[in-house]
Amino acid sequence: MQNLLHNLNPEQLAAVTLPPQSALILAGAGSGKTRVLTTRIAWLIQTGQVSPAGIMAVTFTNKAAKEMLTRLSVMLPVSTRGMWIGTFHGLCNRFLRTHYRDAALPQTFQILDSQDQLSMIKRLLKANNVDDEKYPAKNLMYFINNAKDQGLRANRVEAHDPIERKMVELYELYDNQCQREGVVDFAELLLRAYELLQRNGPLREHYQARFKHILVDEFQDTNDLQYNLLKLLAGQGQQVAGALFAVGDDDQSIYAFRGANVGNMSAFEREFRVENLIKLEQNYRSHGHILDSANHLIANNSKRLGKNLRTDAGHGEPVRIYEASSDLEEAQWIIEEAKTLMAEGSLRREIAILYRSNAQSRVIEHALFAAGLPYTVYGGQRYFQRAEVKHAIAYLQLMDNPHNDSAFLRVVNFPTRGIGMRSIEALQAAAEQHGISLYAAVPYVAGKSGSSLNSFVKLVEGARFETQQLALPEMVRVVLEASGLLQHYQNEKEGADRIENLEQMVNAATQFVQEEGFGQGAPAYLGPKTYASAGEMLVEGDGVEIIDADTPLNIVMSPLSAFLSHASLEAGDAQAQAGQDALQLMTVHSAKGLEFDAVFITGLEEGLFPHESSSREMDGVDEERRLMYVAITRARKRLYMSFTQTRMLHGQTRYNMKSRFFDELPEEALKWLSPRVQSHWFGNKKSAWDDAKFTGGSDNKIAQQIAQKAASNGPGWRIGESVAHAKFGEGVIVNIEGGGSNARAQINFGKAGMKVLDLSVAKLERV
Ligand code: ATP
Ligand code: MG
Repeated sequence: MQNLLHNLNPEQLAAVTLPPQSALILAGAGSGKTRVLTTRIAWLIQTGQVSPAGIMAVTFTNKAAKEMLTRLSVMLPVSTRGMWIGTFHGLCNRFLRTHYRDAALPQTFQILDSQDQLSMIKRLLKANNVDDEKYPAKNLMYFINNAKDQGLRANRVEAHDPIERKMVELYELYDNQCQREGVVDFAELLLRAYELLQRNGPLREHYQARFKHILVDEFQDTNDLQYNLLKLLAGQGQQVAGALFAVGDDDQSIYAFRGANVGNMSAFEREFRVENLIKLEQNYRSHGHILDSANHLIANNSKRLGKNLRTDAGHGEPVRIYEASSDLEEAQWIIEEAKTLMAEGSLRREIAILYRSNAQSRVIEHALFAAGLPYTVYGGQRYFQRAEVKHAIAYLQLMDNPHNDSAFLRVVNFPTRGIGMRSIEALQAAAEQHGISLYAAVPYVAGKSGSSLNSFVKLVEGARFETQQLALPEMVRVVLEASGLLQHYQNEKEGADRIENLEQMVNAATQFVQEEGFGQGAPAYLGPKTYASAGEMLVEGDGVEIIDADTPLNIVMSPLSAFLSHASLEAGDAQAQAGQDALQLMTVHSAKGLEFDAVFITGLEEGLFPHESSSREMDGVDEERRLMYVAITRARKRLYMSFTQTRMLHGQTRYNMKSRFFDELPEEALKWLSPRVQSHWFGNKKSAWDDAKFTGGSDNKIAQQIAQKAASNGPGWRIGESVAHAKFGEGVIVNIEGGGSNARAQINFGKAGMKVLDLSVAKLERV
């Protein structure tokens, strides 16, 4: 047995080995919070204080949960299967699958991702003749999610004006519609679980007795509903109470916009009468200059719980700062620096490029692609969100739960099978009239429409019948064929990529089945009535059925249902590109909890970071500063920051000032790579280069490149000029942005549409 404890400092050791009582570990970035939490689980099990089934641990992402399980299986000689480790959403899904009947859900309930949720709300507005200008679908979606995050059903939301009253009414209709279709959105997963635990005493007591230890990472970003759920599970103040071990950093609270409440930390301390509060102040992640920068910056926030971070690692390299003339040049600079790092031996996956908003990634991706550097984008267009994959998923969803209207509408006429708008409208009317799903309403539609709809139903049912005995990967393969999707994309001009993505799904299913332990012998499909066998059930009090602690999840969920949940819940996590060594691109938000040897923080401009929306909210700039603190503290050895004079964002050129955060960093930790340009952005004057503070060789090289670029002027295009392009044909320049080699033109090519082209790259001719 390994000694779990020998690599811990005294505070960490104290935290890991605390008695089974409520505890709060409050500590800055990189001080080993996650490590302490994981080690505590292993220690509790190793010392026989709890069995794996008595552990519940909440992580912020699915990826973090996986990592934790992997670490634990290395540390412990026992199976980690019985433990409940996952995100709030993942754990609530598991709970609701087990107790679907008590939760009044169909066994095959499905999870709506945000995209499906929005389209469902749009349909709802239309069906109820609601003016979507007055009640934009997105607003209603936020309204509903926000209410759910606070634990409020429609009948408990207070409406202050007629608009809100209408929203509440629509919220109610929305919930009814979800129930009819057997679908739940993300917020609903939590609210349902919470309501069930609250209403069902025996069930609650069962789980309270079962989970002797509940451990929560990133506690500062829990919302009210999540905290209340934890309170129910931990049985606060009751005899059976489990120990709640919360780990967090108030300086890293960055999800207030999604309802996170950092006040939960002090509420927890008070309500659970926490006597064990441990601070960890030794940072093991970052070199000195990096840590100093983080400490200096965050000191500008008021209302902190107060803690410090120190390191033994020495100063290390200074933080390098670069001012680019445009976003394009910023991307070029990143690539040059990344190449230098790689030449010095850095692994690609140890280099992260962070940005405040997703829209920034396009230019960087483009440059990386052009430079031939492999990269992975976290939380970008995820695999399961791609159109073709969503289509295939929709077929599978219908086979598992035909009442999912979103899935139905997505593929009823895709690939086209002659079912037009009129048929759909007739079907929607029938469904509305009878209060049933579209699928169930098909027999009510007469004539030709009815018969084409009916053949679609036959197709879905045929596929279900045909695949009944098959394992999940084969099932997916059959559906890709039977749906006509493969055939459809084969006939499409640029369908090769899409076909590859579809075929990738068979691999995804294979991998999923292996990882989740849906072994060979497991039934491929559990009919709607199949439930765990009696031997695996405990019946307690009021006839509540409780699956025994060690029952694997796959007994209560068919592989298909499980796979579909996985596809919906994967949201927000990295796109898995197994084995490939690639640069890591992501927003600062999704970098939370991660660490890299080298980190680039890009777009440090007023309005972008801090984001302009922050000036409108109370505490807004403080939250941005915390976000910046998170960004800085991701770096181990090298940290780079950049800002640009001009940037194209959302179709507009912006001329920004550099971020105020630069003034909050300790000058002695910084090294300015580019000249501090005093002239205005379009000046680009020689004088700006005179006071350049170039130091190293590679810096000089970049400076030369920039100077060359600045000198090369384009052929002087004008707005209104007619041009011709080899691919897009003839067009008119409607706008020009940027200057010199960074000039870009917006050109209306008529048939080919509006394009934005780099004037230094695009081969344009005057006509
Ligand atoms: P964050 O706030 O960013 O989530 P954290 O507090 O959770 O950070 P960890 O990720 O647990 O910090 O640890 C940061 C790094 O320091 C990890 O690489 C971890 O392995 C290492 N580390 C933690 N404690 C020690 C220790 N006692 N000795 C050596 N390395 C340590
Ligand atoms: Mg952590």
